Amino acid sequence: MADIIQLLPDHVANQIAAGEVVQRPASVVKELLENAIDAGANTIKLIIKDAGKTLVQVIDNGKGMSHTDARLSFERHATSKIRNAEDLFQLHTKGFRGEALASIAAIAHVELKTKQAYDDVGTCLVIEGSNVVSQEVVVTPTGTSVSVKNLFFNIPARRNFLKSDTVELRHIIDEFHRVALAHPSIAFTFYNNGSESFNLPVSNYRQRIVNIFGSKTNEKLVPVEEETEVLTISGFVGKPEFAKRTRGEQYFFVNNRFIKSAYLNHAISSAFEGLLKSGTHAGYFLNLTVDPQTIDINIHPTKTEIKFDDEHTLYAILRSAVKHSLGQFNIAPILDFERDPSLDTPYTYKGTDTTIPKIEVDRSFNPFQEGSSTKSGVASFKKEPAGSWESLYVGVESKSNQNDKEFSEVHFESEEKPASMFDEAQDVEQVNTTYQLHNKYIVSTIKSGMLVIDQYRAHQRVLYEEFLKNMTTKEGVSQQLLFPLQLHYSKEDMVIITQLKADLEHTGFVFSKIEEESIDVIGVPVGVPESEVSIILEQLISDTENEVPDAHFSATDLLAKSMAKSLAIKTGQLLKKDEQEHLVNKLFACKEPNVSPTNKTTFITMSVDELDKKFI
Ligand code: ADP
Ligand code: MG
Repeated sequence: MADIIQLLPDHVANQIAAGEVVQRPASVVKELLENAIDAGANTIKLIIKDAGKTLVQVIDNGKGMSHTDARLSFERHATSKIRNAEDLFQLHTKGFRGEALASIAAIAHVELKTKQAYDDVGTCLVIEGSNVVSQEVVVTPTGTSVSVKNLFFNIPARRNFLKSDTVELRHIIDEFHRVALAHPSIAFTFYNNGSESFNLPVSNYRQRIVNIFGSKTNEKLVPVEEETEVLTISGFVGKPEFAKRTRGEQYFFVNNRFIKSAYLNHAISSAFEGLLKSGTHAGYFLNLTVDPQTIDINIHPTKTEIKFDDEHTLYAILRSAVKHSLGQFNIAPILDFERDPSLDTPYTYKGTDTTIPKIEVDRSFNPFQEGSSTKSGVASFKKEPAGSWESLYVGVESKSNQNDKEFSEVHFESEEKPASMFDEAQDVEQVNTTYQLHNKYIVSTIKSGMLVIDQYRAHQRVLYEEFLKNMTTKEGVSQQLLFPLQLHYSKEDMVIITQLKADLEHTGFVFSKIEEESIDVIGVPVGVPESEVSIILEQLISDTENEVPDAHFSATDLLAKSMAKSLAIKTGQLLKKDEQEHLVNKLFACKEPNVSPTNKTTFITMSVDELDKKFI
C-alpha cells in the first residue's frame, strides 16, 4: 500500500495552532499586551474597533525588533525568550511558546511596525493569512505597533461563532484589567471605537485598582501582606460588607501573571468564613511571588492555569494571611473561635436602621377605675391593675383563658412583613388544601391526585409574566423612596445599566441622576423593598454579562427574568396558608405555568392510579 502520511504545510499548521491560541479577539489582546510587556515597554496603548472584530492594535515603547527579527517573529516556534527546555523553569517572561504572532498572522491581516532605539529607521511588515505581502523600511518611533485586522477573515465558521460585540468587548476588557492590574508600573491607555475608555497612569497597586474599578473601591480594600520563605503575598481583599453575588473582582497573580485557581480561591473563602452573606463572594486582588522553579505554567495553552509544587503550604499561608488582615483591620469577629452563631444578628436586620420603640400612653386609663380599656387594638400589658402580687397571675390566667382575641391582636412592630409579595384580594377558593413541604414545595390535592409545586420556580414564573407585561405595556407602577438611594458601579457596569435604563423605568424604577460611576434611584417598582434594589441591579448586571441579549425583545426578557429571580420567594421561606394558596392560583393564571422563566419544571402531578401502583 502506498504511503499516505504527509507533513502539513506551514500555513495549515499555523491555522491549526491558531485555533488553540486565538479563540476570540480578547486572545489577541492578551498576546499582544504580553509581548509589549516582555519588550520592556513602560507605556502601552490598546486600540479596539468593533469589539476587536475589525481591529486590535497594540502600540508600545519597548525595545523593538531588528529587520530580521521582525520577519522571524512570525515564524512558528520563533521566540527570543527561551533557548532550551531548562529555561522553562526559570521563566521571567510572559511568552515563551513563540506561537502567538505566527498563529495570529495565519488568520488575520497583520501590520507590524517596529524600530530599535539605536536605529534611525524601522521596519513595516504586512502579512495576510501567513503570506508576507510586503516588508519595507519606514520612519516610526522606537518600539512596536502591531495591528490585527479582520480576525478570522479566512475561517468564516470561526468568525460566525463570535458572540455579540458586547460580549466580545467584555472579554477584552477583562483581559485588559488582568494585564493592567499585574503591572501598575506601566502606563496603559485603552481606546474603544475612537473614545478613551481607560487612562491608567503609572501608580501604586491601590491606585491602579481604584483607577480601574472606580473611586469608591478605595474604601473597600483591606491590605494583605505576608512574607515567608516560599511565598510572598501582597495586595488587597475586599471588606466583607462589599461582597458581591458575582465572582467578578477576584484576581490572583503569580509572578505577575493572572491565574485561575479554584484551590487557592477556596483558601480565601475559608478565611472569610462566617463573615459573608450566603451566596456572596468577597473580592480580592492578590499578588503571589514564588520561585519560578516551583511552578509549572506550561500545562495550559492559554496559560491561566498553573501547577504549584507545594499547593498545601501555599493554601495554609494564604488563608492565615487573609484571616490575619481581616482581624487586624477589625473586620473579623474578635472571638473567632467557639463563636455562638445564634448570637449573630440575622442578616436581614443588619444594615437596616433600628426603629425606636413607640411608647403609647393611654391617657384615659385610670388604674383605680374598673373596666377601663384601651381604645386602640394595641394591647397594653401594664393595664392589669397591680394591686397585689396575686393579681399579676390572675391577669395572666385571665388573658390566656378569655382574652385570646385581644392577645392575638397584639401588634409587634418587628413582625410586620416589609412588603407583601401577595395582593390583598386573594382568590383562595380555587385551591382547597395546601401543605408546605420542607419550606420548598407546596403540595395540594387535585381531582386526579396530587400536585407538587416548586415554590421558588413558581413564583419566578408569576413575577416574570407580571414584569414582562409591565414592560411591554409600559405601566409598571412606581413607589417613591423617601431618600434617593445612591448606588456605585464601575464604568462597565454603568454601560449595562444605561443600556437597560428605559426597560427598568417601565417596570417602575425611577432614576434621578446617572453619572459616570453612580446612579441615584428615587423610585422602585411597587412591592420591591428598598433593601433589594442593589441586589436586583447587581444580579441584572451579572446576568447581562453572561447572556447578553442582542434584540430589544430579549433585553426586556432578560430583565424580567433577572428581576423575577431576585424577588421570588426563595426555597427555605416559610409560607402561610393563604400565601401558599395565592401562589398556586397565581401560577395557574399564568400563560405558561408549567415551566419557570428559565425553562425548568414548576410542578409535577401524581395521579391516584400512580400512587396506587406504589402500594401494590
Ligand atoms: P513568544 O512571546 O512566546 O516568544 P510571540 O509569537 O508572541 O512568541 O513573539 C515572537 C517573538 O517576537 C518574541 O519572542 C519577541 O522576540 C518578538 N516580539 C513580539 N512582539 C514584540 C514586541 N512588541 N516588541 C519586541 N519584540 C517582540
Ligand atoms: Mg508572545
